[in-house]
Amino acid sequence: MKRNRRVKILATLGPASSDEAMIRKLHEAGADVFRINMSHADHDLMRELVRRIRSVEAAVGRPIGILADLQGPKLRVGKFAEGKVDLQPGDEITLDDNPEPGDRDRVYLPHPEILEAVQVGHRLLIDDGRLELVCVAADKHGLRCRVVAGTRISDRKGVSLPDTELATGALTDKDRRDLDAVLAEGVDWVALSFIQRPDDLAEARKIARGRAFLLSKIEKPQAVERLDEIIELSDALMVARGDLGVELPLEAVPGIQKRITRAARKAGKPVVVATQMLESMISAPVPTRAEVSDVSIAVYEGADAVMLSAESAAGAYPVEAVATMNRIAERVEKDPLYPGIIFAQRPAPEATGADAVSLAARQMAETLGVSVIVTYTATGTSGLRTARERPQIPILALSPVLATARRLSLVWGLDCVVTEDAQSLDDMVDKACRIAVEQRYARAGERLIVTAGVPLRTPGATNMLRIAYIGSDGLSAV
Ligand code: PGA
Ligand code: MN
Repeated sequence: MKRNRRVKILATLGPASSDEAMIRKLHEAGADVFRINMSHADHDLMRELVRRIRSVEAAVGRPIGILADLQGPKLRVGKFAEGKVDLQPGDEITLDDNPEPGDRDRVYLPHPEILEAVQVGHRLLIDDGRLELVCVAADKHGLRCRVVAGTRISDRKGVSLPDTELATGALTDKDRRDLDAVLAEGVDWVALSFIQRPDDLAEARKIARGRAFLLSKIEKPQAVERLDEIIELSDALMVARGDLGVELPLEAVPGIQKRITRAARKAGKPVVVATQMLESMISAPVPTRAEVSDVSIAVYEGADAVMLSAESAAGAYPVEAVATMNRIAERVEKDPLYPGIIFAQRPAPEATGADAVSLAARQMAETLGVSVIVTYTATGTSGLRTARERPQIPILALSPVLATARRLSLVWGLDCVVTEDAQSLDDMVDKACRIAVEQRYARAGERLIVTAGVPLRTPGATNMLRIAYIGSDGLSAV
């Protein structure tokens, strides 16, 4: 489905949106990529969702991306004899290695690596920060902690450690099993949760062997500190504001969102802004003004995609949430102030053929007012570098590789069509003209720009730019 916007919409699937008819409705309302959350989906459900998304894709004839989100090392306390205990600021409680049910004085922490790593003075945030503890004494069997704020701890609540770098890698045994399963289903993107350092990508990269692209969720302060190195090794980023807002002060999150978005744009890696974007639509058919403003900020900033979590996965108004995001994005992108705001952050080209051609394509397209930039891209690189320029002219990405087209569905401004490789330079230009007309980006008598790497399928060899004029037969006239 042709969209009237450049930013993409990523919708999480869940109980409110698992059947095929609903997935199709979400796609029609504007969802370009679907997220399967492996914290909640077992392998049978994941496989069934992938099958349904692929079936919708076949029915609509447009590549749709699938992102599988691995749970990562989510830490939790054990259970209490009475399910919960009430505490007061100033009280003390020990988190230890004793698996017995907990009480007023102590509770099991089933993660020996945390007991090793937490030092006196480090904070422990329980239950998304509702209970804040600080470690006052530590040995390898237990952490004595004082309650700083909050009044309750209960069974299996999550633990965040904003001050502690953990010695564990980013993949748990569950993640490894999930990763194998999602790769076997041919998902396009895999999201890694709670990564802390660049090395955390290495194992997933090795297992994936190019079968999926890797998206790093930035949700730990340790990852924010090493952002540039992590971007370098990632294929995409997510500003995971849910956990970021637990691990860091909430008021730090907007600035970090801007930093991550800008750094990712500079690197030419897609960046997704996520969590609570239209949170009130979980239970209401209209969003708050503040939420509309929040979505619009991500769009003005030039993010590649905006994401819905519970709004589409578990809310009462999944289709309305996607449609609302779609409307906000369309409106922002029509705002006369939008080009100036988004282009103010345009990064300088790197010294490569792909960047030189992408920059020239944008400038020529805008100077001449052509209808569309058509980019041939086998691996996706040329598409990404063209999108990095954020041209005002639409971009049509042509790829002979279905997996590339699906992956690029996450990227700002790229409308992807799968087509066979061209046979010759003339054929390449004719094909570009024909598909641009078919897809209603251009009409006879208009001009377009074609970029490609010749010979085709040579990665990183973008070296050709052509201005073409569409003749009355819909093919190139010059
Ligand atoms: P989650 O990630 O929804 O998997 O927790 C996003 C976030 O933390 O914002
Ligand atoms: Mn998270």
